[in-house]
Amino acid sequence: MHFVDAKGILTTSGGGCGMNIYRGCTHGCIYCDSRSKCYQFTHDFEDIEVKQNAPQLLEAALKSKRKKCMIGTGAMSDPYMHCEEQLGLTRKCLEIIHRYGFGLAIQTKSDRILRDIDLLEAINKDTKCVVQMTLTTFGDELCSIIEPNVCNTKRRLEVLAKMQERGIPTLVWLTPILPFINDTEENVGRILDACIEVGVKGIMDFGMGLTLREGDREYYYAALDKHFPGLKKRYIDTYGNAYELPSPNSRALLSLLKKKCRDAGMFYKPEDCFGYMREFPEKYKQMSLFEL
Ligand code: SF4
Repeated sequence: MHFVDAKGILTTSGGGCGMNIYRGCTHGCIYCDSRSKCYQFTHDFEDIEVKQNAPQLLEAALKSKRKKCMIGTGAMSDPYMHCEEQLGLTRKCLEIIHRYGFGLAIQTKSDRILRDIDLLEAINKDTKCVVQMTLTTFGDELCSIIEPNVCNTKRRLEVLAKMQERGIPTLVWLTPILPFINDTEENVGRILDACIEVGVKGIMDFGMGLTLREGDREYYYAALDKHFPGLKKRYIDTYGNAYELPSPNSRALLSLLKKKCRDAGMFYKPEDCFGYMREFPEKYKQMSLFEL
């Protein structure tokens, strides 16, 4: 990893604010979109760029914000990679979010988030905290091939259950679903059943498929050659160079998703999930106006 002084930390989009403390990721997911060429990495994806001044930048940004809102993190790199154990920058930023009365929508695949569960609970009690986990593959062996350097789906479900026990709402990103690999009704059904049992609020899905673009595609195909011999040819024959690769089973998987979510009263439309994550509680918004 290497350290930089960033110029800014908060970006605004869709009514919420987002931040990425780290750039790059060491979890090694074979399908990772963040390693795509369009993001213009000038260093190896695994050579994590650490924005060492992230807490100072965040504090300055939150101090000057006129309206409180939800702060999102984890979209482009996981806030609980191995390096967070030693650096603690995510934790410092969460403390600042709590101190200044903002909300948090945090996304990870790592059980390291449990280190900060007291802080997440405190944010949720004061304003709102939504914890999101990505779950793609129920079987342990397959999961360890697809997402090799992070805890498996069963452990992530335990983390979600612990969040629920503390009253912290959770959402699950059921994406990507990889054609001919984890796109079975059994896999998706088992994940959904486990989410229902845990009590997650909603499932984020974008059509039961995968996207690939330059940079990401080459890495993915190399992983297919290594772990699923012959499958790259099937991908190329089926999808060519397409950006969107919907599973051939997408219709059946989507109707399974809708049925299970409707029956359980969970969100399943991305707009509902995003709306929930970005909605800062009205009563605290008003309090923040009085504080001005
Ligand atoms: S956790 Fe996210 S950012 Fe990290 S490798 Fe996996 S998909 Fe990429």
